[in-house]
Amino acid sequence: MVFMRFRPQLIASSLSRAPKPSRTLAPQPLAAAAARRRSLTATLSFSSSSSMAGAAPSEEALRRALAERQTAVDAQADAVRSLKASGAKEGVDAAVEALKALKIEAGAAARRLQAAVGSGGGAAREEMRQTVVNTLERKLFYIPSFKIYRGVAGLYDYGPPGCAVKSNVLAFWRQHFVLEENMLEVDCPCVTPEVVLKASGHVEKFTDLMVKDEKTGTCYRADHLLKDFCKDKLEKDLTLSPETAAEFKRVLAVLDDLSPEELGAKIKEYGIVAPDTKNPLSAPYPFNLMFQTSIGPTGLSVGYMRPETAQGIFVNFKDLYYYNGQKLPFAAAQIGQAFRNEISPRQGLLRVREFTLAEIEHFVDPEDKSHPKFVDVADLEFLMFPRELQLSGESAKLTKLAEAVSKGTVNNETLGYFIGRVYLFLTRLGIDKSRLRFRQHLPNEMAHYAADCWDAEIECSYGWIECVGIADRSAYDLKAHSKLVIVPSKKDLGLAFKGNQKMVVEALEAMSEKEAMDMKAALESKGETNFQVCTLGKDVVITKKMVSIGMEKKLEHQRVFTPSVVEPSFGLGRIIYCLFEHSFYTRPSKSEEEQLNVFRFPPIVAPIKCTVFPLVKNQEFDDAAKVLAKELTAAGISHIIDTTGISIGRRYARTDEIGVPFAVTVDSATEVTIRERDSKQQVRVGIDEVASVVKELTEGQSTWTDISFKYPSHIGPQGDQE
Ligand code: AMP
Repeated sequence: MVFMRFRPQLIASSLSRAPKPSRTLAPQPLAAAAARRRSLTATLSFSSSSSMAGAAPSEEALRRALAERQTAVDAQADAVRSLKASGAKEGVDAAVEALKALKIEAGAAARRLQAAVGSGGGAAREEMRQTVVNTLERKLFYIPSFKIYRGVAGLYDYGPPGCAVKSNVLAFWRQHFVLEENMLEVDCPCVTPEVVLKASGHVEKFTDLMVKDEKTGTCYRADHLLKDFCKDKLEKDLTLSPETAAEFKRVLAVLDDLSPEELGAKIKEYGIVAPDTKNPLSAPYPFNLMFQTSIGPTGLSVGYMRPETAQGIFVNFKDLYYYNGQKLPFAAAQIGQAFRNEISPRQGLLRVREFTLAEIEHFVDPEDKSHPKFVDVADLEFLMFPRELQLSGESAKLTKLAEAVSKGTVNNETLGYFIGRVYLFLTRLGIDKSRLRFRQHLPNEMAHYAADCWDAEIECSYGWIECVGIADRSAYDLKAHSKLVIVPSKKDLGLAFKGNQKMVVEALEAMSEKEAMDMKAALESKGETNFQVCTLGKDVVITKKMVSIGMEKKLEHQRVFTPSVVEPSFGLGRIIYCLFEHSFYTRPSKSEEEQLNVFRFPPIVAPIKCTVFPLVKNQEFDDAAKVLAKELTAAGISHIIDTTGISIGRRYARTDEIGVPFAVTVDSATEVTIRERDSKQQVRVGIDEVASVVKELTEGQSTWTDISFKYPSHIGPQGDQE
């Protein structure tokens, strides 16, 4: 196909972006740093006063009540001691009784506080996580990579059921986003030349703050140590005064925003040491998270493994825009591996050094961020956690999306539309609505150029985890990183410089961005400026009409502008891990002797859609099962056939453990039983109908309720064996 190119000088050739500020530690001018500190202080004092004035009152009241009761216990204990020391007989028994009563009250207050701060649940959460993770690793959902060589932190393999879940989630992602919005999907290399990541700011700024064990050299992420310290104190130290508890909460709220100096000061102030050795720690310093490599054999061409997929889209923007008929809005999407050399990855799939990202860049006219399909999601209601609620110490609230957009809590309809679509995507995958919230970035957490950012956070045993970032990154980075365009007017330069024209043109074209912008400013204010041409060995005077200087812009319907970018960015591993936890439950076996593990994956996610079990070992059933398996394959339904002849109950338990939603038991050559995993209900279905029934169920055209109305239910001997 032949495409008409549009005017090259009007279009950006490299639209890239700076990494997010939480990873950013570029040296700041003093005034800016001071302003930033001022705004941080304002945040601290605001959240402090608000939390003292009624935020989280129950916890605060409980801490006060416990402190008062403890004081009363101490006073009464003193009284008992003095009575005993004085040798008085009278009143001692009564005083001891009173002390006992006070201790009981203090114990009750401690338990109430413990329940409120969740430390009681910590052990249960840990235990539940262990059960889930053991099941996942035993069933090969995922496995530490290079395990036989003792593994490498932050690298994991997906085993067979894990691969199937991942590919199902990605297939649904493509259907839900790429297909629904006619997005332009691209697939770019992971190895990226330095020039791209320099332009995007990653080479300079994609860093995390690190501290080192001063004796062993072990590295830790500084903010994680501070976070763990504060959380641990809040959950486990019941003797904390309400004021100290409020201080720890404040630190947690502004953690992403602390400068290296502030972070270092807090680590010192709290006496935080290396968790493994208790050795002192170094001051925090930035560590770039990109894996560096070289491209080609010479070692001269520096490259990096991409830390995100977005750059591949930005550098192709010009062609994609053209492919789209030079019309906005449009979106491009990419699924691929991203690499981040995380400082000390823990938490399984949640923080790894190589992971799959699915990213969307939706390019939109900055003056019109309405979305024609916003009405489709406007009535959705879910937990939203805008910055006002966070800063006043409140919790996320159920909010209607339409209201959040109309009140301006969410900056614009396009951003709102994607928040709604992300909500639908996650809940249809099986994420529990009550453990999903959309949290707005705090003012200082957000890049200064961004219009608004929200994270889809999912609660799991590790706490609330950012799984999808949805940001209106505005036009800032496209502008900042679009290409400099210097167009010398050869006619005017020729008239002025005659034979020297060529050298002046070359010198003008060789200007750096700063020199060009300084010249532009001088020409605009004074109409002319002196310009040194080294090859001529002298200064010349350049006038306004001799050169045009600007940054590349988009031309649409004769209006020149730079598009805004709304970017939803999905971390697949995080979503999948949370899905594992939300889908997991246990139930007693029929004999109640053991707990059976079940993953209640919706059919679209389930790694295998159904099983085929001949009821007993016999040729007739085995043959019927094989025919059925063939039909399922032809219908594109993944299945397992198990002819081992062990009890049906055991076979159900095995496949419940990998979340297979439907089990077909073959107990005749004409009719079979289909059992649904969670309700354990069974229906009788003609053997030749099985493939179409399972297909309808797994593709969502029918629900189990529909099927159980349509076909006779069954309570057979196989059910009794569970
Ligand atoms: P970011 O570009 O930092 O906003 O990351 C985009 C998404 O990638 C996040 O919402 C996470 O879901 C995911 N992510 C980021 N870092 C990691 C990591 N180290 N391991 C796994 N997922 C990650």
